[in-house]
Amino acid sequence: MKKGLLVVLSGPSGAGKSTVIGALMRLRDDIRFSVSATTRAPRPGEEDGREYYFRTREQFLDMIAADAFLEHAEYVGNFYGTPADPVEGNMRAGYHVLLDIEVQGASQVMAKRPDAVSVFLCPPSFEELERRLRGRGTDDDERVAGRMAAARREIAQARHYDYIVVNDDAEKAARELDAILTAELCRSGRQLQSIPEGEMIP
Ligand code: ADP
Ligand code: 5GP
Repeated sequence: MKKGLLVVLSGPSGAGKSTVIGALMRLRDDIRFSVSATTRAPRPGEEDGREYYFRTREQFLDMIAADAFLEHAEYVGNFYGTPADPVEGNMRAGYHVLLDIEVQGASQVMAKRPDAVSVFLCPPSFEELERRLRGRGTDDDERVAGRMAAARREIAQARHYDYIVVNDDAEKAARELDAILTAELCRSGRQLQSIPEGEMIP
């Protein structure tokens, strides 16, 4: 069995990452979402172990000390980290593992794992991003301002990603992500072991 791909998806909070991931996972059944640990409080409707593992600061620091994370970072006052074991296990089982992580964590993964495919999800404009953040209704004015300031810094990092997808329409963005995965799976380096043996050309 071929190992799955490691896919890093970043983009400012409110760009639509969760929405687009949901749409992508309806298009393909060979993807596993990497559930991160975080010290932020759950939003209404979020469940421990589904969107995130909600942990205290102490628990999170213990996980860092135990070297349990593939990457971790602080974002707008909270810690977020990717538990390493499930990523490896799922990739070995042939699933593509999708990380929804911010830019500092993404650059740690790109440095550690040059095989990772990185995609930056961009909102169509800052005005639309603010509308989405306010429309989500989970952040007060101060938090929206903090997330907008972070968004400007994050979008400046988009050029370091393999791909940029603009999320004006979530279904279209999901189809573009699907196309990226399909193209990455057809890269010659991954396909050489699957093709009939031809003549050895030096
Ligand atoms: P993220 O996971 O990047 O923080 P969400 O998926 O929570 O973002 O989306 C933020 C808000 O924007 C949600 O209310 C969501 O319904 C809305 N949204 C997502 N994608 C689109 C889109 N293409 N057009 C309009 N609204 C969108
Ligand atoms: P939110 O609080 O809106 O769910 O997420 C805030 C930011 O944290 C988003 O940019 C999201 O991609 C990022 N994030 C979520 N999980 C992780 C993680 O495990 N590691 C890192 N570095 N960022 C994460």
